[in-house]
Amino acid sequence: MASIFSKIVAGEIPCYKVAETESCFAFLDINPVQKGHVLCIPKKEVDYLFDLDEQLYGELTQFARRVAQSIKKVCPCQKVGVAVLGLEVPHAHIHLIPLQNEGDMNFHNHVKLTEEEFKQLAAELAANFE
Ligand code: 5GP
Repeated sequence: MASIFSKIVAGEIPCYKVAETESCFAFLDINPVQKGHVLCIPKKEVDYLFDLDEQLYGELTQFARRVAQSIKKVCPCQKVGVAVLGLEVPHAHIHLIPLQNEGDMNFHNHVKLTEEEFKQLAAELAANFE
């Protein structure tokens, strides 16, 4: 059965899309730890990040770098933090989270955004993706 994230890539489940390349896809985390929390995934469904073949791993990390540059422009932050958990969804993904301080990378804390805020944020990130 396809993962939730494969269904998002296929457009079967809606998302707030941020960016896309031939092999990768980025969208807002639905339960963000901070405003600007983005997930970067390979379109190909592979559970564990470090099982990706070398080429796709390289493409994903380069893609995540470009998405992080967009987050840095759009979201007030000192730096964009990177995390890999993968304990919930068995489809490799890189969390990008704007950080003002160390405590902002806390997966037990969440911020609530309205649908309008999600839409606006995704549009701004997409517009700044280069
Ligand atoms: P992990 O697998 O890294 O432990 O966590 C999975 C992440 O995916 C969580 O931050 C969760 O909020 C996010 N997530 C789970 N299901 C969906 C979904 O259907 N849409 C979006 N946009 N994010 C999801």
